[in-house]
Amino acid sequence: MEEQLEQLEQLFNKGDLFEILALKGIALADFRLTDNEIQTLVDLNSVFVATPGPSSRFKLKNVQANGLLTLIHFERNMMDKLNGQEVSAIILHEIWHALNPDEQGIGAEFQADQFANQKGYGRGIIEGLRKGLKYNWIGFDKDECDKRIERLEANLINYNEDDEERDYDLPTDGLEQFELG
Ligand SMILES: [Zn+2]
Repeated sequence: MEEQLEQLEQLFNKGDLFEILALKGIALADFRLTDNEIQTLVDLNSVFVATPGPSSRFKLKNVQANGLLTLIHFERNMMDKLNGQEVSAIILHEIWHALNPDEQGIGAEFQADQFANQKGYGRGIIEGLRKGLKYNWIGFDKDECDKRIERLEANLINYNEDDEERDYDLPTDGLEQFELG
């Protein structure tokens, strides 16, 4: 599994999202992605980045061109207002969209939220949506956010690491650098 996490790291270290994760105390293993999920993100040539603003120019390092690039981006000023749980939740929500590109509409939003919920970040989605509404972020429609919050609260999974059945061990040595301790 360590190999898979190293591959995942390659998808995050092209820009400064990596440093943001470190500042928030997030290790990539915390996302609890399966080997298959990581492999699919690799196959999609996914690159995760933080963007300085809605309209901006920035550099990505070491991007391999293979005819397909799946760019998953997060606005830096939004990330600054979110805590580690909320950032992880939003990244997992967007990962679901990347893994299911043909799914659209509110049904897709529910499923993306549920994916984050299953990884232990349902509460993070709820709090992130509340912040989006509070700060009037673009794309945070009140009616839709309320429906998503209501649905998550009814299905909230309280993640217990002791009960966890997972297909790999966490954390791994290579990820210590991301943790603030
Ligand atoms: Zn979504």
